[in-house]
Amino acid sequence: CGLFGAFNVADAASFVALGLHALQHRGQEAAGIVTYDPEIGFSSVRRLGYVRDNFTQRETIEALPGRSGIGHVRYSTSGAKGQTAIRDVQPLYADLAMGGCAVAHNGNLTNARAIKKELIERGSIFQSSSDTEVIIHLMARSFQKNIPERMKEALRRVEGAFSIIALTRSKMIGVRDPLGVRPLSLARLGEGWALASETCAFDICGAEFVREIEPGEMVIISEKGVESFRPFEPARPRFCIFEHVYFSRPDSVIGGRSVYESRRAIGVELAREAPVEADLVCPIPDSGTPAAIGYSQESGIPYAMGIIRNQYMGRTFIEPSEQIRNMGVRLKLNVNRALIRGKRVVLVDDSVVRGTTSRKIREMIVDAGAAEVHFRIASPPTAWPCFYGVDTPERDKLLAARMTEEEMRAYLGVDSLRFISLDGLYRAVGEEKGRDPSAPRYCDACFSGEYPVPPSDALAEGALT
Ligand code: 5GP
Ligand code: SF4
Ligand code: MG
Repeated sequence: CGLFGAFNVADAASFVALGLHALQHRGQEAAGIVTYDPEIGFSSVRRLGYVRDNFTQRETIEALPGRSGIGHVRYSTSGAKGQTAIRDVQPLYADLAMGGCAVAHNGNLTNARAIKKELIERGSIFQSSSDTEVIIHLMARSFQKNIPERMKEALRRVEGAFSIIALTRSKMIGVRDPLGVRPLSLARLGEGWALASETCAFDICGAEFVREIEPGEMVIISEKGVESFRPFEPARPRFCIFEHVYFSRPDSVIGGRSVYESRRAIGVELAREAPVEADLVCPIPDSGTPAAIGYSQESGIPYAMGIIRNQYMGRTFIEPSEQIRNMGVRLKLNVNRALIRGKRVVLVDDSVVRGTTSRKIREMIVDAGAAEVHFRIASPPTAWPCFYGVDTPERDKLLAARMTEEEMRAYLGVDSLRFISLDGLYRAVGEEKGRDPSAPRYCDACFSGEYPVPPSDALAEGALT
């Protein structure tokens, strides 16, 4: 999911809409904005679909008055998957004893189901299927005197990954979980402030990056400025390494590192670890592009656009007909046949999850007359599900959980298949010595199976057995 907040600026909603538009890649299912105006109170618009289709009309922005506002783009990883109900669209809002509070959450809580069960037994009535609502109920039941204190108390009970932006009548609050699994940054926006999942959202609205919210930090932004608190036990940070590989936008800067540069460096590492004689290096757009550039630069094999992406493939387009939907990746990607014919091609993609995309692409490339097809993947084999906010399928649907690399190569039908090593990936994101197995700097559970926070709900349901 993606988060954006604006505090103490005229027409906060228009900045939030811009910010969410820049974060659309983090969630396409739904978007919502909540604003606050002292005369009108809280206003909220929550819709299914893209930001550009829902938050560009003047009437919508005018329905969201105020100098402070927060917003969310949704990508479901908990709750009802794939078919977001309007009740699950964030920010969630609640009237608490001391005033209203809106909450937007990126990440996934690993013990939400256990807490929810307990809260329901004690009389809480849940409105949504989202794990985020647990935080609201814990806040509502707290005896602390103000909203930030209630939020601290609630967040000490939940486990897992959370970056949160919350809005009250007088404050905007930003928090990251103790490991800092998901990103969150602070910027100056005119006389006011902005918070966003990624720095690319600051660029679009002219906000000036100040710093990242630190793992385990809570910032409270008010008329007094920005105050910083440490509500949790200190822990070693474990930022999501997959944000660098795939999830974040390449024009964002995370942990002081350009995401584009990390991805290009992954391609350089891949070319060193897994060289091959070939005529062309082609990305599988758009996610494989920076790594393909790095592979080409390091190997000296020319870079070319062997696969062309249709920029206008919207989600809504495929809905009308089953027959069209079955055409799958062909709607989005097409082979540049004249270029590919007779060539030995290196195809670079960010990840292999179920293997469906790779299989279809290999078929298209072979149809187009490629002489050889070599897959190079910018992440290690995805063999474990993510429980911290990236939507991976259950373990038995992950190709790498069921097959060896040679079996995957044969299944995909390619001449060679190589993944970057975990050490190579760490080097690409700035760890010169690779991954320190006794104290890894990142979360890499989907590749290593080492979960920095036990996924307790999932374990209770036997998801990993
Ligand atoms: P597969 O077809 O192997 O299941 O999926 C691999 C493709 O899905 C890759 O091209 C990658 O760009 C994309 N992908 C990887 N992770 C995610 C994700 O979390 N969400 C979405 N929508 N796509 C992803
Ligand atoms: Fe990121 Fe993978 Fe960890 Fe999930 S399991 S937070 S995708 S590194
Ligand atoms: Mg892709």
